[in-house]
Amino acid sequence: MASFPLLFDLGATKPTTRDIARTVKSGGSAALTEAERRADQARYQEVTCRSALNHVKGMPFEWTLNPYRGCTHGCHYCYARRYHVQFELNADDEFASVILVKKNFVEVLTRELARPSWTGEYIAIGTATDCYQPIEGHYKLTRRSIEALLRARNPIGIVTKGPMVVRDRDLLAELSRATTCTVCMSVPTVDESAWERLEPGTAHPLQRLRAVRELVDAGINAGVLMNPIVPGFSSSRDKLERTIKAIADHGARFCGCNVMFLEDGTRTHFMKFLAREFPALVPRYERLYRKKHAPEEYRKQVQGMVRLLQDRYGLAKREKADDRVPTSDPEPEQVGFAW
Ligand code: SF4
Repeated sequence: MASFPLLFDLGATKPTTRDIARTVKSGGSAALTEAERRADQARYQEVTCRSALNHVKGMPFEWTLNPYRGCTHGCHYCYARRYHVQFELNADDEFASVILVKKNFVEVLTRELARPSWTGEYIAIGTATDCYQPIEGHYKLTRRSIEALLRARNPIGIVTKGPMVVRDRDLLAELSRATTCTVCMSVPTVDESAWERLEPGTAHPLQRLRAVRELVDAGINAGVLMNPIVPGFSSSRDKLERTIKAIADHGARFCGCNVMFLEDGTRTHFMKFLAREFPALVPRYERLYRKKHAPEEYRKQVQGMVRLLQDRYGLAKREKADDRVPTSDPEPEQVGFAW
């Protein structure tokens, strides 16, 4: 069985993600004997990555950066849960409690940005995990990556639920003066009950909105994505209105939304969560989520309501996020509203 070096043993070679998958496959996550357990009870396993820039298809951008895998924010609806199975880890507890840390990430990124073949394309940061989850305060991989991107004057967009992004406003403001730099704070709802149940490890929604205000005040194009709106938890007109009003009050430069989708490991995890904590909702969800997405008409209803409220609170007239930020499903329209 592979044995991995201790967290701060800088002289030793870290395992690759493939090594991790092989180890977990043979012995479960308990076989990661050198992963360090920290005060938040999550275990952090340092790994070596071969590449930092990740090419993706089917999105408005082609390149992503994720210095960590897994996320202690532990949102039950998180679409990235299903990616954790690539490392033979499960999409339930292990997604939020076994975090892979790409120790050599910044060095690899710096090399990749310097390649003659790299043409400075837009990079989306934080698409498969939150780049400002608490452990970033220790490793600073995101901050050091932004330093490298700033040196290269490379356009970026960040999606996060972490108010820690404010720590890096100096770099982000400088990058904003040089090229495209957008920060999308994810705040699906300001409803405390929905927040506590759906996003157990995240900062309070108002703390996230205060971070947006600080970024905007620093000259950064920062706004809010209400992603995802979760049927029955955050989709009522009252909750949407309170959320959109709060977003407007905090000076967000833009606001978008999407209704939750469910597939693979995320679907399995979310339905288990419902069955455990909200069994009365299970039949309704089984009807609403026969497929990956809720029916188009339902999504149009939600997005139509959001659009109406954005207009009411002056958000529709504000600037848009850059074109690479997916702020809504195509062609939402107001056609009535239910649940
Ligand atoms: S913060 Fe983002 S990446 Fe982390 S669990 Fe929540 S949705 Fe997933």
